[in-house]
Amino acid sequence: MKHFRRSLKYLWPYRGRLSVAIICVIAIALLWAGGLSLALPGAKILLSPEGLHGWAWNTLVQDKLQATIVQRLAPPGETIRIPGQEGTPLLLVLDVVEVKDENSSPLKKGLWIVGFEENSQPRVVRGEVLARELAAVPADEQRTLLLYDPFHHQTSHQAVTMHLARTTSEALGWVARQIKEPQNMQERFYPLFVGLLLIVIVTTIVRSLFTFVQEYLVGTAIWQGIMDMRCENYNKVLHLPTTFFSEKGVSDATSRFIQDTNELARGQNTLLGKTLVEPARAVAIAGLAIWLQPKMTLVALLAGAPAFWMIHGLGRKMHKASKRALESWSLMLEVLGETLQGIRVVKAYTMEGSERRRFFRVNRQLLKQQNKMERLDATTGPLVECLGVSAAMVAAGYMGYLVFGGLLDPEYFLAWMGALFALMDPVRKLAKVSMRFQASDAAAQRIFDLLDTVEEPHVVNAITLPRHGKSIEFRDVSFRYPSASTDAVKNFNLTIRAGQTIAIVGPNGSGKTTLVSMVPRLLDPTAGAILIDDCDIRRASYRSLRRQIGLVTQDSVLFHATIGENISYGLHRPHREDVLAASRKAFVDEFVHDLPNGYDTMVGEHGTTLSGGQKQRISIARAILRNPSVLIFDEAMSQVDSDSERRIHQAMEEFIKGRTTLMIAHRFATVLSADRIVVMSDGALVDSGTHDELLKRCELYHHLYQTQFMASGGKS
Ligand code: ADP
Repeated sequence: MKHFRRSLKYLWPYRGRLSVAIICVIAIALLWAGGLSLALPGAKILLSPEGLHGWAWNTLVQDKLQATIVQRLAPPGETIRIPGQEGTPLLLVLDVVEVKDENSSPLKKGLWIVGFEENSQPRVVRGEVLARELAAVPADEQRTLLLYDPFHHQTSHQAVTMHLARTTSEALGWVARQIKEPQNMQERFYPLFVGLLLIVIVTTIVRSLFTFVQEYLVGTAIWQGIMDMRCENYNKVLHLPTTFFSEKGVSDATSRFIQDTNELARGQNTLLGKTLVEPARAVAIAGLAIWLQPKMTLVALLAGAPAFWMIHGLGRKMHKASKRALESWSLMLEVLGETLQGIRVVKAYTMEGSERRRFFRVNRQLLKQQNKMERLDATTGPLVECLGVSAAMVAAGYMGYLVFGGLLDPEYFLAWMGALFALMDPVRKLAKVSMRFQASDAAAQRIFDLLDTVEEPHVVNAITLPRHGKSIEFRDVSFRYPSASTDAVKNFNLTIRAGQTIAIVGPNGSGKTTLVSMVPRLLDPTAGAILIDDCDIRRASYRSLRRQIGLVTQDSVLFHATIGENISYGLHRPHREDVLAASRKAFVDEFVHDLPNGYDTMVGEHGTTLSGGQKQRISIARAILRNPSVLIFDEAMSQVDSDSERRIHQAMEEFIKGRTTLMIAHRFATVLSADRIVVMSDGALVDSGTHDELLKRCELYHHLYQTQFMASGGKS
């Protein structure tokens, strides 16, 4: 869970909001427990024959007499035999069920209190009246009680000294005294019933209000945190070495941005939503249950321990399944991205069926993992329920035995059972929550994997590279891709004077692209160094190095923006005239004039609305506008019509004047326009010189000339 915990640091800036949410949670839990604790007095009053007042007087009397006393209806026909009172029927009596200290108390278990003596005159009083009067006697005062033994049908007197009642009993008595004592059943129950209903409505409204505030604050804080995390991730991705993407693919990173962050947000939401409320609720209710029946509750809770073990095991499985599902997600995105981007090829090669099957395969893989997650998720609730209810029932069985034996009040039993069942719900939810955490932890792990990837090396004490004007030197440069077993560029040595144009030729895979990619430090040599004006480029700041390099790649990269914006890419608000001048030089204006919105025409995603040649001309205009001192030009091999090609050449001829240019040439005209031609094979420099020199002495060049250049355009 360490990854999930780490993700919580993104919530720290929103701690103010979250603190309010936590206060709301505590309030919700208290309202819950408060509602439940009302159930006990509510049930007591509603269920017991004596009502609130009876309950209050009884409690006080019990405290004052230090005995358990129950109001009971005397059996019909039971009468009293004392002088002057013979034959008085007994109605409601106070039955002494238990006496706290039988030795010191004048009361005995099983006796009925039926009245008291007043002015040496015995007076039989109805139970409820008797209780009210006894409750009002102050502590330490004496009263003579009239007692009746129902087994021997005998009466006796006993003087008793009143004890001090508990504060809670006195408080209950105080409440009872404030309320008018009802005279009949309807008067007793109706206000109580309505009062209870009102309490339910009010507490529900207040609780809902707190729930709204809590959910809203938590939700917004989480999405803010996730947004911050995405931004940090994005920033990270922008600074990752290019080899990261060639190795891991773009879809994987994309998927981490979308699916993984969503999964994480769900986990955080669960933590701060349900999880905060549920343990609070569980603790509040468990506290109530323990207060009612400490031993039994602990037994029930301990019996639930195996459930926690099982949940722990399921959680581990969930973590694994979630990780696999997220991996399947990125695979699916990869297939989707590839097919949609290459939709023309898919259609042209009638590969729809095969692509459909490929998509189905990864989709099914994802479904399999998701089904597994659902299965694990669905198992937890019932598992906790079965084990929990069984444990509770064992405890309840014993409690029931106590109730039937008259050793426990049925109201207590009912309230305890209610609390135990209410406890079931938060516990079941908590079990589900732990599953959610495991799933989120897997997502967080993938996100942090990306965040922890080593960035492009940071240049310590970077120097600002002045505008290049002397030379570019490749000094014993070698490069090996992390996944490769051989060098893509081997011990390459070359010095280019400023302003020279170098054409690099060689068979496919000979290392041309790798070589030129090292100049703007898209790749760093694994051995050797590249020096611009005698300065190792690794000592220069990325910014000062890259801003003087113009890059025109084979597959011109266009962004989903207007043509004007694409040309000005990388510059902060360039002058409109400069943009227009650059596009004139690159012959962009020729086709832009025909477009309805001119430079404000949006190019489709990846520039799909433009031809290959047009795209490359926009790329050239972009490079021209930057006015670089070094130009890297990877000539397009195909997709350029001959008219566009001519235009591109015209543009380039103009553009390369006065700049150091490295061209990966595929056409003879381009090769011829260079000052020097460099021939590469298997990553090594084979030869360099002019066309005529190389034609005479370099076999590979001769071969390339005959096979590639002649075929692609013949002599210029
Ligand atoms: P060229 O531009 O001359 O066609 P490249 O510079 O693209 O050649 O590739 C040189 C060698 O490096 C080739 O053998 C190629 O397979 C390998 N290569 C290129 N890119 C990668 C990569 N990202 N990971 C591993 N090997 C690569």
